[in-house]
Amino acid sequence: MSPESTRPGNEHRAGSTTRRRIGLLGGTFDPIHVGHLALARAAREALRLDELRFVPTGQSWQKHGSEVDAAARLDMVRLAVGSTPGFAVDDREVRRAGPSYTIDTLIELRAELGPEPALVLVLGSDQLRNLATWHRYRELLLHAHIAATRRGTHPLADLDPPVEALLAAHGRDALPDAPSGAIVYFTMPPVPVSGTALRERLARGERPAELLPPAVLDYIERHRLYRAGAASP
Ligand code: ATP
Repeated sequence: MSPESTRPGNEHRAGSTTRRRIGLLGGTFDPIHVGHLALARAAREALRLDELRFVPTGQSWQKHGSEVDAAARLDMVRLAVGSTPGFAVDDREVRRAGPSYTIDTLIELRAELGPEPALVLVLGSDQLRNLATWHRYRELLLHAHIAATRRGTHPLADLDPPVEALLAAHGRDALPDAPSGAIVYFTMPPVPVSGTALRERLARGERPAELLPPAVLDYIERHRLYRAGAASP
């Protein structure tokens, strides 16, 4: 697999397989923004996912200092997703005590869904670059595929040696007809937005309406989130 290439055009269901493909988009969603939604739509289309589940973290082990608690982040994800066909919200990490490790989520999902469906962990390249810092990261591919797309200034090339080693062993041009075990790339048009930049703008009292779903902006304003000195609802 050449790092910057993706083959959504080549992506197809081998033969007549009917194996379900469930995408999982984890994140702090602090707050959920148009970049997350664009990523979800692009993944669903490029990878032919039957369903894409947003999985907000409860207690993030990677990111600290969010002023907005998990219940409010989950509320905003639910508002953004609404009744969009093919999208769903999975609140298990918010309900689970302790740090939100993706490996625990995958093991739980496998126990619930059985061995048949393909699980596809959807990541921006910033997260792929970080993968070797994830808890029990080598085991993720026992339970799911990983599908990554380039995000902003984070290339999909020149990754840390442990991630390059995973790619050498598991990189494929397209998702195989298997429940787990492959790493693939897909493309999406760049959407230059981050939670960090949004929080800074909101703290300055700006109203970045073009970067947030209307119901999410409304929620943030009603609960006065991300304002300097604001608390969670
Ligand atoms: P923060 O700035 O607070 O770190 P974030 O905007 O990176 O937040 P996360 O909730 O950490 O948002 O991201 C969840 C997932 O969405 C990650 O895989 C991340 O790479 C991806 N993602 C976030 N923003 C974008 C974007 N603008 N384009 C593509 N992928 C994105």
